[in-house]
Amino acid sequence: MHEALLYEKLPGSRVRCHTCQWRCRINPGKFGVCGMYQNQDGILYNLNYARVSSVAADPIEKKPLFHFYPGTLCLSLGTLGCNFHCKHCQNWEISTADSSSLIRGCREIQPQTSIDLARQYKCRGISWTYNEPTIWFEHTYDSARLAKENGLYTVYVTNGYATPETLDMIGPYLDAWRVDVKGFTDEFYKTLSGIPRWQGILEITQRAKEKWNMHVEVVTNIIPTMNDDDEQLTGIANWIKDKLGELTPWHVTRFHPQHRLRDLPPTPLETIERAWEIGKKAGLKFVYAGNVPGHSSESTVCYNCGKLNVERYGYQTDIRGLDGSRCKFCGAELNFRVSGPKEG
Ligand code: SF4
Repeated sequence: MHEALLYEKLPGSRVRCHTCQWRCRINPGKFGVCGMYQNQDGILYNLNYARVSSVAADPIEKKPLFHFYPGTLCLSLGTLGCNFHCKHCQNWEISTADSSSLIRGCREIQPQTSIDLARQYKCRGISWTYNEPTIWFEHTYDSARLAKENGLYTVYVTNGYATPETLDMIGPYLDAWRVDVKGFTDEFYKTLSGIPRWQGILEITQRAKEKWNMHVEVVTNIIPTMNDDDEQLTGIANWIKDKLGELTPWHVTRFHPQHRLRDLPPTPLETIERAWEIGKKAGLKFVYAGNVPGHSSESTVCYNCGKLNVERYGYQTDIRGLDGSRCKFCGAELNFRVSGPKEG
């Protein structure tokens, strides 16, 4: 249990957490929306520091991150709980668990141990993934600092609901921001995730790129009847192009019935291909179909000379034509991050 880094004390032993954009006001003895921060006698504590529910040495492509250290392994860590309650969550067993499961549902992995594990399993970096990283912010912050001291890259796989204060604190130590932009309307975010002010996700993502020079890739899981209309998909594609740049990868991934959306069908392939076309029409250079192994758009092809830069099949990666961040054949900038200013 660690005292929270980002909160304020209010009259009557109440507190206000500033870790994510919920900015929960919490009465004594009570928890925030995520269930992992508790007000104990006027002090806000994070309850899941170093409490790990899931750990694996994953291909970085599984996050998915396609333009960030391709072909490397990253040590992937998740805890319990979440600040969103998405109806289609793939990891609902861990995201819906509350703090009463932290002892029996988790093992302890302190920041230094995660560095040691990364080395042991030949990982080039560490990602906090499987559930939202900001809900164990103190742990990820300490770990990210240590990772950078040890020459490892660092990744948040996030719903993008961190506050500017949280982002600015971890910004110097975080290399990649793999963010979900789940939809593009108030109604969709309210229905799917229960989020009132979703535009904050866009603002914080722009800040991650502009202020902290993070490598950004965007994922949209396309759910039949909920966010598969042209208006939302065009809105997301145009926003990426205008605010993050045409070289930002957009992953349009296939939904599989899960959790509280088991009554919907899997996303038809035609819908994924329509989304791919919408992305290309908006001017995005790299749009990838996800959860469709063997799809022609899995590989990276240079938009300038048409040659194959990185061949992928599922999580198998073969680097064919990269020279740093550029195309080896024609020199076009492809926005690949293989080293950077935060490299330790
Ligand atoms: S991290 Fe948890 S307690 Fe803090 S504002 Fe977000 S949901 Fe609320």
